[in-house]
Amino acid sequence: MATQIEERPASELDSFRLEVREWLAENCPVELRNRPRGMDTSFWGGRNPVYPSEQHKLWFERMASRAWTVPTWPAEYGGGGLDAAQGRVLKQEMERIGAPDALSSLGIMMLGPALLKFGTEEQKLEHIPLIAQGKIRWAQGYSEPGAGSDLASLTTKGEDKGDHFLVNGQKIWTTYGHKADMIFTLVRTEPDAPKHLGISFLLIDMDQPGVNATPIRMISGNEHFAQTFFDDAVVSKANLVGEQGRGWDVAKYLLTFERSSMGQSLGGGAGSTMAEVAIDRLGREGLAREPGLRREVAETMMETWAMQIAGERMYDAGKAGVLSPFSPNVMKLLGTELAARRTRLAMSLGGFDELAVDGRDTYEWLQAPPNCVAGGSNEVQLNVLSKRALELPEHK
Ligand SMILES: Cc1cc2nc3c(=O)[nH]c(=O)nc-3n(C[C@H](O)[C@H](O)[C@H](O)COP(=O)(O)OP(=O)(O)OC[C@H]3O[C@@H](n4cnc5c(N)ncnc54)[C@H](O)[C@@H]3O)c2cc1C
Repeated sequence: MATQIEERPASELDSFRLEVREWLAENCPVELRNRPRGMDTSFWGGRNPVYPSEQHKLWFERMASRAWTVPTWPAEYGGGGLDAAQGRVLKQEMERIGAPDALSSLGIMMLGPALLKFGTEEQKLEHIPLIAQGKIRWAQGYSEPGAGSDLASLTTKGEDKGDHFLVNGQKIWTTYGHKADMIFTLVRTEPDAPKHLGISFLLIDMDQPGVNATPIRMISGNEHFAQTFFDDAVVSKANLVGEQGRGWDVAKYLLTFERSSMGQSLGGGAGSTMAEVAIDRLGREGLAREPGLRREVAETMMETWAMQIAGERMYDAGKAGVLSPFSPNVMKLLGTELAARRTRLAMSLGGFDELAVDGRDTYEWLQAPPNCVAGGSNEVQLNVLSKRALELPEHK
C-alpha cells in the first residue's frame, strides 16, 4: 500500500527546511557535530541530571525549549507538534550536520508512545511533558531471572489492595536501573488467570521504600545493568497503564518501538562510513591491494544504506498507519546482525592495534552481541517471524 504523509505543499516544507537549517546552524554547538556517539556522550535526563559537557547542556536546553526532543509528539502534552513530514525534515537536517540527539531516553524510545496509546488523560498530562523535558529518567522492568525470552512467565507480584498494588519480586538486566528515577514494570496481578492475561503494566517511582536497584558489574568493569528488587513497594492505582490484567497488550506495543528503534539506530550506523574507516586504517593503496576486503567493505556499506532507507520507509509507514506488525521484528533482527558484522569488520581492519585501544570501536564491537539479545533475542525474533509472519509449521 502506498504511504501518503507529505500532505503539506512542497514549498511549505521547503521553507520549513530552511528555517530548521538556519536554526540548527545557530543553535547546535559546532563541537558536538559529527562526533562518535555512545552512552558516555549522551544526555539521559533525570532528577539529578549529568551532562556530558557544557555544550551538550546548552544544546539540550535549546532543543527542549522547542520540544524538539520529541518533535512529533502532540503539543498538548508538551511535544513539538510537528507533522510526520516536518519531523522527517528535522531528522534529515540534524543528520546532515551530524547533530547528536539532545536527549536519549527510554521514556522517548519506549514509554512515551505506549502512554500516548494506552495512558489515561491524567497519565499523559503528568508524564509526557516530563519525558519531553528530560526531567525523569525511566528504566524498563520487564526481564526476571526466570523470565526473559519467555517473558509472560514473570512472577513479580502486584497484590491488589484496593487503591494500590503491593509489589514484591525481582527484575534483572535493568539497563541503568540504578540511575533511573522511575521504572515501567510488568507485574502479575491475577495469579490464577492464563499467563498472558494476569499481567499489569505499572509505573513505579524508584525513590521510595521497598524499591532497590543494585548495579551488576560486568567483565568490562562497566555497570550497565542493575537488578531491581521490590519489597512491599506501594504503587497507586493511578499508575496502572491500560486495564488491570491486560498489561501484556501495553508491553507488546512498547516492544515494537524498542525493536524498531534499536534496528534503525544500530543498523543504520552513525559517523564514518566503512570505506572511511578502511582508508583510515589501511590507506587507499592498502585497501586497493585487498579485493576481498574491498568487496566486504562495499557490501557492508550497501547494507547500511539499505537499512537507512528501510528505516525511513518504516517511519513513513508508521506515521501513515500502514506499518506491517512484523517490521519491528525484521528491523531488530537485521539491524543488530548488521551492526555486529560491521563492528567485527572495523575491528579486523585495525588488527591487534585496534584491540589494544580502549576506545569507541572496541566498545561497539563488544556491545554488538548483547544488542542481538536485548529487546528480545534474535532467535526469538526468528521464531515470531517464522510462526506468525510466514506461518511455517512448528518443529515437533
Ligand atoms: C544489552 C541488554 C540490555 C537489556 N536491557 C534490559 C532492560 O532494560 N530491561 C529488561 O527488562 N531487560 C533487559 N534486557 C534483558 C533482555 O530482554 C533479555 O536478556 C532477553 O529477553 C533474553 O532473555 P534471557 O537473558 O533470560 O535469556 P533466555 O531467555 O534464557 O535465552 C537464552 C538463550 O536461549 C535462546 N532461546 C530462548 N528461548 C528460545 C526459543 N524458544 N527458541 C530459540 N532460542 C531460544 C535465546 O535466544 C538466548 O540465546 C537486556 C539485555 C541486554 C543484553
